[in-house]
Amino acid sequence: AKMAGRNRYSFFSAEMNEQVRERAMLEMALREALDTREGLTVYFQPQMSQDGGTLTGLEALVRWKHPQHGMMSPGRFLPVAEECGLAVRLDEWVLDYTCSRMKDLPDVPVSVNLSPGQFCTDDLYERIMVIVQHYGVDPRRIELEITEKVLLEENVASHTALRRLREAGFRIALDDFGTGNSSLNYLRRFRVDKIKIDQSFVQHLGKSSESAPLLRAIINLGHAMGLDITAEGVETREQLDFLAQNGCNQMQGYLFAPPVPEERLADFRQTASGS
Ligand code: C2E
Ligand code: CA
Ligand code: CA
Ligand code: CA
Repeated sequence: AKMAGRNRYSFFSAEMNEQVRERAMLEMALREALDTREGLTVYFQPQMSQDGGTLTGLEALVRWKHPQHGMMSPGRFLPVAEECGLAVRLDEWVLDYTCSRMKDLPDVPVSVNLSPGQFCTDDLYERIMVIVQHYGVDPRRIELEITEKVLLEENVASHTALRRLREAGFRIALDDFGTGNSSLNYLRRFRVDKIKIDQSFVQHLGKSSESAPLLRAIINLGHAMGLDITAEGVETREQLDFLAQNGCNQMQGYLFAPPVPEERLADFRQTASGS
């Protein structure tokens, strides 16, 4: 029994070492990518009007081509970035990149995501302003997507930063709405312009009988508070029809397009200008 115990122990520790090693390698490669800007890029996902026919926005989503593992999804490297404090630099890079491309992008607002770590720094407002001013970008062209995790970091600085950013013209969107347990609390405490209904709600449409009334309630709540509402993860015509009939303002999902490199936005520029 003692033998088996020891074997089991060394098995687990070997596996753990492997995980620690992998994580350390990932962190190193990410640091390098941020220093050299190599392998990092931004894709843009179209956001469409209620009827799905017109481009009304874009969401900037980071992409990383790892030197060994190839194209890596943010779901895999963002948690690591957040743990080792690199997420703030990564988001800043995405905003910088987006602003640098702004005049060549379709003439619609562009959303960028802010990780919760952003709000632990007390110069968030200044850091964002420096970037947009450097490129001469009008803050009204930029929407900042935040999640309710920001609220967990209970501090006055984050309230102040958000308020100042809104006053400067940035729009604030509450991302992944409905997935946490303080979404409603959040709406009471922060001024935002838009809620983005999490894709899990949209994708349960037709699969569970609770989805339709839940979605209607979220949309009505948002409208009652004077907010715009974007649905994420719209993949089917049925989902689009339901959401449109119930007054959702903006649609985002594979039904229209996945996140694409800038060059592939040309097709959407045409729909945007109505030709
Ligand atoms: P998110 O902000 O909720 O972004 C939407 C995600 O859903 C994107 O995944 C997008 O590709 C995916 N998606 C869009 N339409 C559909 C659809 O119809 N069906 C399905 N199944 N998925 C769809 P992505 O690009 O892999 O990003 C994952 C998450 O990583 C994002 O979720 C966001 O939380 C985070 N992220 C991405 N880029 C950044 C960034 O620059 N900064 C920060 N802080 N987070 C980012
Ligand atoms: Ca988002
Ligand atoms: Ca989301
Ligand atoms: Ca998400």
